[in-house]
Amino acid sequence: MSDITADPTSTEISNLRKDAKCYFDVESPADTICNKCGIPLSNNPRFNVDGVCKTCKNREKMAAILAPISNLFLPGMIFFGVLGLFGVISFTEVLFAIVGLSIIPITIKFIFTKAQYLGLKNNEKILSSLYGFGLTWDMGSYNLSFEMLEKVPEEERMKYYPSIIKEIGSIIVLKFNALPNGWDENLATIFNVSTERITEDIFSSTEMKESMISSGSTGANPGVLPFVANYLIKNEEEELMRKLLKTIEEVVEHEWIEDNMLEQERRLAKKWERTFFEDLLISEDELLQIAEKVEMTETLENIKGFVDEYDFPPIPTGLLEASLSPEALNAKRELKNRSQVNEKQE
Ligand SMILES: [Zn+2]
Repeated sequence: MSDITADPTSTEISNLRKDAKCYFDVESPADTICNKCGIPLSNNPRFNVDGVCKTCKNREKMAAILAPISNLFLPGMIFFGVLGLFGVISFTEVLFAIVGLSIIPITIKFIFTKAQYLGLKNNEKILSSLYGFGLTWDMGSYNLSFEMLEKVPEEERMKYYPSIIKEIGSIIVLKFNALPNGWDENLATIFNVSTERITEDIFSSTEMKESMISSGSTGANPGVLPFVANYLIKNEEEELMRKLLKTIEEVVEHEWIEDNMLEQERRLAKKWERTFFEDLLISEDELLQIAEKVEMTETLENIKGFVDEYDFPPIPTGLLEASLSPEALNAKRELKNRSQVNEKQE
């Protein structure tokens, strides 16, 4: 829904991985983090090349090779277009060329995802590709991680469990919606534990809980709010329940749209508001339970007041509508509604 995300290398997120093992070798402690991407890293020269990790080195190399190829796309289109225009090649041949060129970006993305992990053994890809997912939000990296994990014999898999749980927690704090449906069930199956245990372990540190509350109650990360709220209710964590309601109240009281915002910032803020208020609406039942439990129904009433007052910006239904400003889109909708009413009256 929203592409507003925190930085996976930010200090707050890095703190969630403290005491982490090396993400290439879970049996070695992390002596440092990569200068470029921040992945926890041992001093083993196979993974750590002058302070930069193996995956970053691979990305550098691949970018140098692939960038010139990806730059061929537009000139190629023009080249074949001109040839077609002057009749040097037929219309069908132009079509073939366009289809051929269109494959370039897809192929490059595919190669790039795989090539990041070149030179690594299967088990060394498990955490490095899960971390790579948090950097690029590319499902290829996410799937690779679990494919590699499944190759590890069942009795050895638990070695990876603590680091994977921490990394999944960091991903939730960054962008909950990026995780595919059933992520917790998949984890439970792979590690042969219950989904309840997965959730408990994800929430096991205070830092993680607090990061999820701040991430979920500020609107930057849709979907986290119901997830955190459910956990707090189940575990009766009253202090954190109070914190959650207080943070939400502070956020909704804040004037989001400022007069001096640029148009682009205004749109981003509107988008942010929308996802946040939708998240609040989804979590209404949980929030009510929390408010009653910690006797903060007044705070919840205050929050609800803001939600009721909020004027939801329209959702664009296509590319054309997405290019319109919210005001223009509203006007378009009004016009459409009016003509529909007129039609009915006739
Ligand atoms: Zn790196």
